[in-house]
Amino acid sequence: MHIEENLLFIKNKLPKHICLVAVSKTKPIEAITEAYKAGQKVFGENYVQELVEKQHHLPKDIEWHFIGHLQSNKVKYIAPFVSLIHGVDSFSLLKEINKQAQKNNRVINCLLQLYIAKEETKFGLSFDEAKYILESEEYTQLKNITVNGFMAMASNTNNLQQVKTEFLSVLEFSKSVSHKISVPVLSYGMSSDYELAIDCGSNMIRVGSSIFGERKYTK
Ligand SMILES: *Cc1c(COP(=O)(O)O)cnc(C)c1O
Repeated sequence: MHIEENLLFIKNKLPKHICLVAVSKTKPIEAITEAYKAGQKVFGENYVQELVEKQHHLPKDIEWHFIGHLQSNKVKYIAPFVSLIHGVDSFSLLKEINKQAQKNNRVINCLLQLYIAKEETKFGLSFDEAKYILESEEYTQLKNITVNGFMAMASNTNNLQQVKTEFLSVLEFSKSVSHKISVPVLSYGMSSDYELAIDCGSNMIRVGSSIFGERKYTK
């Protein structure tokens, strides 16, 4: 694989304010090391055990993002080091993250995952549910988490108009809660649609296969 070339090719196209999360799930330590040596410091992983293992073996200045579906009983394993959790899809998960962050004496940054796709299988909160959390009294009591913004995944379709509508709905929603989060992190866009996502207001993209090549398997 030409990881360094791929990375530079993407980075050279990106506006300065876009954060690139290199999605390294299922990829070996050597591949991550190659990207790291090429200057990439932010990596995203989907599986808790894999993330913990990789974090242990790799340089400590890597910023690890958890981008998968997180089960409450596994928060404790990543709480000591994770720098951003993208997929917060329930109030109870947010409270558990707060609890584990407190135990580790830190504040953990989180994104609420919004459900925008037409498919039934994806996780996420409705706009109403996300708004309810942000405006609740209980939320203001959670001192060991910060909700910095929102994460979303568009429908898996070739219909770009559909994807665009879904991305823009997140941007609109974020404006409607600007009294709670004034400058939100907006995490949407993957290998297949990151340019469209950026046009639709994304400022954090999660790119895997365009950097590391196709994954041989998906868990
Ligand atoms: C795997 C994954 C990505 C990256 O997908 P690519 O198509 O390989 O860029 C981004 N976000 C999430 C949540 C993922 O699970």
